[in-house]
Amino acid sequence: MYEGVVYLVGAGPGDPKLITVRGLELIKKADTIIYDRLVAPRLLAFARPGAEIIYAGKEPGCHAIKQEEICRLLAEKAGEGKVVVRLKGGDPFVFGRGGEEAEALHEAGVRFEIVPGVTSAIAAPAYAGIPATHRDYASTLAIITGNEAPLKDDSSIDWEKIATGADTLIFLMGMANLQEITQRLINGGRSSQTPAALVRWGTRPEQRTLVGTLENINEQAERSGFTNPAVIIVGEVVLLREKLKWFENKPLFGKKILVTRAREQAGALSEKIEALGGESLEFPTIKIAEPVDFASLDQSIKELNNFNWVVFTSVNGVESFFKRLRHHRKDIRELYNARLCAIGPKTREALERYGLLVEYIPGEYRAEEIAVGLRGKLTCGERVLLPRAAEARKVLPKALSEMGAVVTEVAAYRTVPAAGNSAALKEVLGRGEIDLVTFTSSSTVRYFVEMAGSPLLSATRGKFAVACIGPVTAGAARALGLQVDMVAEEYTIEGLVETIVKSQESEFRSQNSEFRSQNKSMVFYL
Ligand code: SAH
Repeated sequence: MYEGVVYLVGAGPGDPKLITVRGLELIKKADTIIYDRLVAPRLLAFARPGAEIIYAGKEPGCHAIKQEEICRLLAEKAGEGKVVVRLKGGDPFVFGRGGEEAEALHEAGVRFEIVPGVTSAIAAPAYAGIPATHRDYASTLAIITGNEAPLKDDSSIDWEKIATGADTLIFLMGMANLQEITQRLINGGRSSQTPAALVRWGTRPEQRTLVGTLENINEQAERSGFTNPAVIIVGEVVLLREKLKWFENKPLFGKKILVTRAREQAGALSEKIEALGGESLEFPTIKIAEPVDFASLDQSIKELNNFNWVVFTSVNGVESFFKRLRHHRKDIRELYNARLCAIGPKTREALERYGLLVEYIPGEYRAEEIAVGLRGKLTCGERVLLPRAAEARKVLPKALSEMGAVVTEVAAYRTVPAAGNSAALKEVLGRGEIDLVTFTSSSTVRYFVEMAGSPLLSATRGKFAVACIGPVTAGAARALGLQVDMVAEEYTIEGLVETIVKSQESEFRSQNSEFRSQNKSMVFYL
């Protein structure tokens, strides 16, 4: 029998990618995961199927499970021989009660290990462009709890000493006591003009930063409704933000972007959005399914060596075709007679992964262009196989037939509506939180419109922008009553993202010029 063990794992400050390699490895292996409120929910998706996942709460002032109960649970699960991951925000030993939990495990005789994490105390300021130390501004650093009501006599913090005892002071859990904290520091001898900053939801797409001085930061926070979870930073290092601010300068920072592609394909787009500082919300409106019947695909596989060309118009087409080929215990050798054409670079890459070289991809990545490009390559009477979506448009087979080709169109897959999350989709759209919706095929538009419903779409008209991967998708969107704001110049995911970034930049420029003209008029009135 295996011996149980508890890993106290730091989940990092918020951005799920800031977990350690060791931390992620243990999440994937755990039998039981007990996690806190500030843990990035996306990390839990790495748990293995069947792992037990328990929420331990820890909202300020109301714990879902009492601390003693958590310790008892950890020992109990490990006692059953399980691999337990206790997942905590930031670093487990920085104000995370990790010390207490480890003590309890020690007392219960349970084996444990600590996996340190990136603490919000350092990471939130770093993402706001504030280094905790700097040779010219700060040689000492103190990390302090802001949780102890500082005006109480029984505070364990020596406010007089701490006020001037370190160059950089970083407070966690301090928002409720911000007024008292700043007052105590000023009373303790720190200049009221010392720069101070607040960073809320640091490292996450919704990060917000407020900069002021010890004297006015509280008033500013009240005015802008700045609340937890935030880190308070006091010291000259705050001034470096002006030069070192980087995360908030990313082109898509603060933008909430809806991704409507099928779940398996959403990741590539989401990753690009997030690398540019945006927040991606995945709401697949379509799902890739098997064709209703395989008869035509199976027949074409049987006589593959009769085809002169096989034309693939999507990655899904490639994957479903080869899956079926394997199902018949056949492989790429069956294709020895055929020349291959792909609609664009991703489809070509998918074929290259099977070791196949593509003869032709069109200059413009859409079906119409394939026929244009194959003119001159394709001889009259040649047989062309088109394995693609059951519902694909007829333009390509029609154009190829007109050129004298003998076209065999087969349904390799089907796109069907992704049922189940339309209530959640309606909710995010209804709240007006979405800045932009992306469409990567006509079917994503069709089922998005179906899922959202026309009453909601008319009510939210103009509240979010619409970006389409190409003219065909844009045409489908317009036909369904959507106003299309952006169409990618190059019809790929990269092209789509590039177009979104460009449009954000021009929006930013026009906001700035508005700002400049407002300033001008102020000067005028003065
Ligand atoms: N162990 C954690 C801290 C837990 S205490 C760590 O090392 O980060 C909880 C406090 O951490 C919050 O009240 C807030 O002050 C801070 N905090 C946690 N995540 C944060 C984030 N993403 N941005 C700003 N502050 C954060």
